[in-house]
Amino acid sequence: MLDRFKRKVDYLRISVTDRCNLRCQYCMPATGMDWIDRDEILTYEEIERFVREVAVPLGIRKLRLTGGEPMVRKDLAGLIARLAVIPGIDDLALTTNGLFLEQQAQALKLAGLQRINVSMDSLRAERFKEITRGGDLERVWRGVDAAMAVGLTPLKLNVVVMAGFNEDELSDFVGLTLNRPYHVRFIEFMPVGEYELFKQVGYVSSQRMRELITYDLEPTEMTGNGPARYWQVPGALGTVGFISQMSHDFCSSCNRIRLTADGKVRHCLLSDHEIDVRGWLRGGTAPAEIQAALEADIQLKAENHEGALRLSGQSRTMSQIGG
Ligand code: SAM
Ligand code: SF4
Repeated sequence: MLDRFKRKVDYLRISVTDRCNLRCQYCMPATGMDWIDRDEILTYEEIERFVREVAVPLGIRKLRLTGGEPMVRKDLAGLIARLAVIPGIDDLALTTNGLFLEQQAQALKLAGLQRINVSMDSLRAERFKEITRGGDLERVWRGVDAAMAVGLTPLKLNVVVMAGFNEDELSDFVGLTLNRPYHVRFIEFMPVGEYELFKQVGYVSSQRMRELITYDLEPTEMTGNGPARYWQVPGALGTVGFISQMSHDFCSSCNRIRLTADGKVRHCLLSDHEIDVRGWLRGGTAPAEIQAALEADIQLKAENHEGALRLSGQSRTMSQIGG
């Protein structure tokens, strides 16, 4: 599927739930979230049908399951098993906070999951608990170890960098890559969802992050599905990436669309424009008709993210869109 700026869209992020067992400060408010009613959430059968009959024929080749926290949804391995066997899907990944990873890593791998991204914003237990409003860092590490042991690799550690919270730990994160094959990715804080916090602390640019890192980094050949650029301490086993969605407009290489847990397709993280495929899936609309609507919709993908910093009217949080 090509959009009007000739960008190839081959990557679908699927949010399987808006619910979460954490309340990270940059993602959701501590209280007062309105959860989507269960009967509005796409069933696994509906997600599979959307991928198999609509998305893959349009050229989607890569899937990432996200949320909310995808592992809080019952039998996630069952969904992965359904998606892993769809002809045409050549990359199947998951983004998680890692709290249930220790228990589920093996089942997810056996079901056909290829790799995993784990969010980890601090290496200090107390601080981690504060940023995530209750997360247990030790437990996340046990999950990371379990994922490495069963081969859910390359394993990426996602770090949202925030002024006054964790920007003093960047070198510690880079230090982790010296002897372990982790791919640490530093993410600029985005004004999606928790806009009040964003207004208070702003974002730390990748440029500034580079200045704060005391190691020398050299560029690597590694590329991913997304916009991160990868670097390495010479001789290290892992890499370091920067996701500079605020300071660098990488919309020119945007290859993705998103399916929300309640069955809306979004062609841009920063735009509230959505089309409702759930009604069509439930109403028996022919796949070709849904495909035509999606093809028309991606022509609306913006060329660049001018205005991202001005965004304040987002009606959904990151947990509802899936990051
Ligand atoms: N619960 C899972 C997790 O935390 O990895 C998956 C969903 S979470 C919404 C997906 C990613 O979005 C995480 O890596 C999280 O750190 C990131 N994220 C959430 N809010 C963000 C924000 N305001 N700016 C930048 N990244 C954000
Ligand atoms: Fe939950 Fe992930 Fe959002 Fe944290 S970032 S509150 S773990 S969905």
